[in-house]
Amino acid sequence: MIRNLLRPHILSLSSYSSARDEYSESEGIFLDANENPLGSVASKPCNRYPDPQQHKVKNLLALVKGVSTDNIFLGNGSDEAIDLLIRAFCEPHQDNIVILPPTYGMYEVNACISAVEVIKVPLNEHFDINLPQFWASITPKSKIVFLCSPNNPSGNILSPDSIKEILEKFKGMVVIDEAYIDFCPKNTFLPLLKKYPRLVIIQTFSKAWGLAGLRLGMAFGSQELIGILNKIKPPYNINQYTQEIVEKSLQNEPLKNEWVEEILKNKNILAGKLSKLRFVEKVFASEANFLLIKMQDSQRVFDYLLYEKVIVRNRNSVVAGCLRISVGTAAENKILLEKLSDYQNIHY
Ligand SMILES: *Cc1c(COP(=O)(O)O)cnc(C)c1O
Repeated sequence: MIRNLLRPHILSLSSYSSARDEYSESEGIFLDANENPLGSVASKPCNRYPDPQQHKVKNLLALVKGVSTDNIFLGNGSDEAIDLLIRAFCEPHQDNIVILPPTYGMYEVNACISAVEVIKVPLNEHFDINLPQFWASITPKSKIVFLCSPNNPSGNILSPDSIKEILEKFKGMVVIDEAYIDFCPKNTFLPLLKKYPRLVIIQTFSKAWGLAGLRLGMAFGSQELIGILNKIKPPYNINQYTQEIVEKSLQNEPLKNEWVEEILKNKNILAGKLSKLRFVEKVFASEANFLLIKMQDSQRVFDYLLYEKVIVRNRNSVVAGCLRISVGTAAENKILLEKLSDYQNIHY
């Protein structure tokens, strides 16, 4: 039962019922939503409100993911799902969330915006869950734990056994952020959704599917949880074109899988070559589409690459001496490696 975990006013909230919630057929003369009947002042038509429940996308997605449509929430990026989860469960100045740094930054940002305390249980030296410290750090007010697997920025998956222990014994919601799961699909916890009613899985179209500009994220959870998220979301949170393009994309999954294979292949080549550079201390094993690399003078390398118009992510502030590099095309990776080799020749 998740109702005991929810903020009481969310439980009793009655949601806004939009025009398209009340009449969802596509045929008729639509005089109910104050839209412009003449058309759109745009190059593409968009004068009608989109489906607030995204039925077509969810029907196709349910087939791809092997879940029921009642188990799917769609958000304007997965960040919207993260925000709604915190707002549904965490009473400001009272409840807390648990995060395992170094990890994705939005859990903490969203908690802070909602004035919700953040308990940090740092990952161990293998970037894996420190279970004793986790159990010692949580409080009765811990409503959600965010587990990012594969983890950003380290790239590894978290120990499935540790995640299972948390799923078995933690009394709050367990959110597993699987933004990078398409790069290592066998590690998904999606098949365990039925077994654990407090499990929420977050995935996104922004990474492997190549749809970052559309902003579409997914949350998978119990029917009860999805009902809550739908109740508190902005009515038309997913725009018409995002819905249409994703419907088409979902019928094109083989292309996504092909690209995943190509990126994984390029990642291995890139990792091998990076690790041969003299100033590189460690290329961390990655299940995702990026590499975390520890090196001497990472700030200087970062500045040098920036000057050369190769933009990587400086993670020095979260993991000392580390840059995070997304796997590019074979041609992009080649240029990156050439620049780094030039840098090595100058400085080492
Ligand atoms: C990129 C990323 C997201 C955000 O995805 P959007 O759907 O684009 O909002 C979520 N979690 C992690 C760990 C990410 O790296």
